[in-house]
Amino acid sequence: MKHLKPRVLGLLILRVAPLLIVVPALAHSMPLREVMPAATEAPTATMLPATPPPETPVPAPPAPTPVPRYALGEAAPYIPILMYHYIREVDPDADPLGFRLSVRPDRFAEHLAWLRERGYVGLRMRDLAACLRANDCPRRAVALTFDDGYADNVTTALPLLRRYGFVTTFFIVTGFVGREGYMDWGDLALLRDSGMELGAHTVSHADLEALDLDQARHEILASRRALEERLGIEVVSFSYPAGSYTSAVRRLIREAGFSSAVTTAPAERLERLDALPRRRVLGGETLEGYRWYFMPPVRAERL
Ligand SMILES: [Zn+2]
Repeated sequence: MKHLKPRVLGLLILRVAPLLIVVPALAHSMPLREVMPAATEAPTATMLPATPPPETPVPAPPAPTPVPRYALGEAAPYIPILMYHYIREVDPDADPLGFRLSVRPDRFAEHLAWLRERGYVGLRMRDLAACLRANDCPRRAVALTFDDGYADNVTTALPLLRRYGFVTTFFIVTGFVGREGYMDWGDLALLRDSGMELGAHTVSHADLEALDLDQARHEILASRRALEERLGIEVVSFSYPAGSYTSAVRRLIREAGFSSAVTTAPAERLERLDALPRRRVLGGETLEGYRWYFMPPVRAERL
């Protein structure tokens, strides 16, 4: 046996050495998947001339869960987001604050007629967030929003919105639903059935900046849950009460999966979906003043 050992070794060297040279050479010129079967298959008499094995389809890796994008690029278009509260007549001397928050019904009708004449497309906030993310917004777009859920939104604003063919977003303080002066759940169902969007605006109109994070999370999530459960809808838009938020509150909004959140402050650009600026439509605003809302604020002031 001892004297056979060198022979075995010699044979091994003779047979394996060429492989060691050839296989790495093949490996460099061919994909590894094609080299492996050729190297292990013994040649047989019946084997046909080698043809490359058919390309087996490689299953695509599972699509990653899309991460919502909140930062918008420099190229994001400026789309005016207008903020209304009441649509009603108020005596400015008797109630100066109420007057500031109110737009007269005939003025509101003028706004809608003006928008329609110019071919503006009214976007709900969910539509606006989606088209901004896809960089595919209508050329003339506007988002009309109403905060707090006042009763005249359904009695006065809704018929005008229907007449002029606009859909809007109503941000509801769920703890106020059904109170004197506010819409009730039946009113909100009517808005829903009219194609309007309902967004969350906390349970108690809390100043989210002043709360600890657990309380803020409760205000945000409980208001969304109430709307979703009572109305059978999905709520994806949020409005910060009094426009008050911190970076931690914004994070809560993102973690909760809202597609957008609006503030109450104007800005020249739409930069972030979790803090979109709005223009407050002032009580007593004339149509002459209204058209300035359709230009970025800084540019409008320079003109
Ligand atoms: Zn509010």
